[in-house]
Amino acid sequence: MAEPTQTAGTATSPTAYGWCAWHQGHSGGVRLMDAFECGSGPGTGRNLFACAPCRETHHLVPLADRP
Ligand SMILES: [Zn+2]
Repeated sequence: MAEPTQTAGTATSPTAYGWCAWHQGHSGGVRLMDAFECGSGPGTGRNLFACAPCRETHHLVPLADRP
């Protein structure tokens, strides 16, 4: 398990509680996986979060941890 060498001041805390889009339920420790911007106005964007078990199951890499 790789530790990020730099800590950007993002809002995606490892202990964030939110909706996991993979198992369709609330969970702690969700991370932002994808952000969609439909571009047709405010409120149309969607953010996809995944919890730790789903990240392991689906081999997901959080946006913030990608190169
Ligand atoms: Zn999940």
